Amino acid sequence: MNQDPAATTTEPQKHFLWQWIEDDVLAGRTGGRVVTRFPPEPNGYLHIGHAKAICLDFGMAAQFGGECHLRLDDTNPTKESDEFAENIKEDIRWLGFDWGEHFYSAADYFDKMYDLAEKLVVAGKAYVCFLSQEEWKKHRGVPTEPGIPSPWRDTPPEENLARFRDMKAGKYADGECCLRAKIDMASPNIHFRDPVLYRINRLPHYHLGSKWCIYPMYDFAHPIEDALEGVTHSMCTLEFEVHRPLYDWVVDRMDEMGMLVERGGVKIRPRQREFSRLGLSYTVMSKRKLAELVEKGLVSGWDDPRMPTICGLRRRGCPASAIRAFCEGVGITKFISTTDAGVLEAAIRNELNKTASRRLAVLDPVKLVIDNLPENAQLECQAVNNPEDSAAGTRTVKFGRELWVERADFMENPPKKWWRLAPGREVRLKYACLFTCTSVEKDADGRVVAIHGTWDEGSLGGNAPDGRVVRGTIHWVDAASAVALPVRLYDRLFAAENPEGDPERDFKEFLNPNSRKDATALCEPALAAATSADGAVQFERLGYFFPDPADSRPGAPVFNRTATLRDSWARQAAR
Ligand code: ATP
Ligand code: MG
Repeated sequence: MNQDPAATTTEPQKHFLWQWIEDDVLAGRTGGRVVTRFPPEPNGYLHIGHAKAICLDFGMAAQFGGECHLRLDDTNPTKESDEFAENIKEDIRWLGFDWGEHFYSAADYFDKMYDLAEKLVVAGKAYVCFLSQEEWKKHRGVPTEPGIPSPWRDTPPEENLARFRDMKAGKYADGECCLRAKIDMASPNIHFRDPVLYRINRLPHYHLGSKWCIYPMYDFAHPIEDALEGVTHSMCTLEFEVHRPLYDWVVDRMDEMGMLVERGGVKIRPRQREFSRLGLSYTVMSKRKLAELVEKGLVSGWDDPRMPTICGLRRRGCPASAIRAFCEGVGITKFISTTDAGVLEAAIRNELNKTASRRLAVLDPVKLVIDNLPENAQLECQAVNNPEDSAAGTRTVKFGRELWVERADFMENPPKKWWRLAPGREVRLKYACLFTCTSVEKDADGRVVAIHGTWDEGSLGGNAPDGRVVRGTIHWVDAASAVALPVRLYDRLFAAENPEGDPERDFKEFLNPNSRKDATALCEPALAAATSADGAVQFERLGYFFPDPADSRPGAPVFNRTATLRDSWARQAAR
């Protein structure tokens, strides 16, 4: 019986936010268009955690035929810059997402935010408060008992308006006063106890210079931005859940003042929902900590291939599709959890296994001599470019009397079940031939300098003429034509599963001292032409390697190890 292939493909699982959006669409609450947004602050580079949010925000918009806005949440001038803003755009594009014409900056709404704040003042819903931060903390109190109202809480609106205008005009010092919403000092939700809407900060803004000396707080700015853009679904990480009533309060005030967008005859009320952030073992994810590693020179930059940043992963050779597959795999829930770093590495391997060309290279070489071949012999064999992709075909690889093989593939006194090189044993030199080791040459210190033996002349291509079974297969490169190329062997940046887990110790103490080892690989000549544009290659039996986009030159690639072939950490843990 023929089956319709479409009928057998499993539908992706609809997570709770997907269902939430679907319900709104069905109830006609979106005015015919789902609008989401990804709102990074341009104060650092994006990391794999942001990728989860990006895949969700852009993914849900695409799922419902809507749009996802890229909005720079530049309401805090402290560390924002165009360098960060430009890299954010580049990383999102590279991940495969497109905001079309919907690029926005929170700073573009500063006038409107200020207008709304003035209206709240006039309506008696906001006041200028002169309590110091310390005093305010005491007034606000704890969730179990009502707070103490600020002495400025009942200032008449006209006076508040004059003071707020003075604040804007720069008549007060930084921190001298702030604008607070007048909501509920007895609320069990601390964020509802007259939260700050505006604070004074004389730092120049990276786009607006010193136009403003007051800046809106995130909790005030974010719902305004969402509402003005007609965003229907505002998804953020769990820590904002307790801020949601305040988000709704601001949207309610905008509604009262007729500031909500209308679409398809529907007034668009943006709504916020929360999901758990991505945490990854053996790394840190806070921008502040990543910035510290960069500033202190503990990594080579935000794009150091060991960083969990998007640009670091890209430079390491991780394909965008692997990041998307990883994000899809971890799913969207409200459970707080840490994903094992091995899960990301497995996603990278899984993707590269399908696409990476196979090549031959040796990292820790020892000479192998085929004694029954003449000095000037030149043989050829056909090597498979990618066993997972028949269209990738084969290539011709030359070899002669002397080869390089991996030192670890030889043992002088091996146990019984050793299938690789040892005196008297036969192995397959992959693609080339069968080889029996007969003797070894050692230097004065007893170190093996050459492995001697003979090949079965009938085995060109790697198969025995009589069909006998040869269990071990090793890789090699031809000594006469090998090219030596630099490789950077990366490992996890931190040696501890949770570098932030010990409150007594700084996370930097857990940096893995062996997270980068520089080495030279002896490579088949084709590898000299490798470029980052062609993507990562697999060095057979060694791992995936990617020409570093910054340090490689034409004809002279410098390889980053993207991933090993197996999860070496899991094997260590199992031991
Ligand atoms: P940090 O706390 O390190 O400065 P942030 O969350 O403040 O990071 P933003 O630029 O504000 O960084 O983040 C933009 C969006 O990405 C936010 O909506 C935020 O919820 C989301 N995001 C940030 N980190 C993660 C994470 N680890 N997992 C999922 N989403 C995240
Ligand atoms: Mg933030």
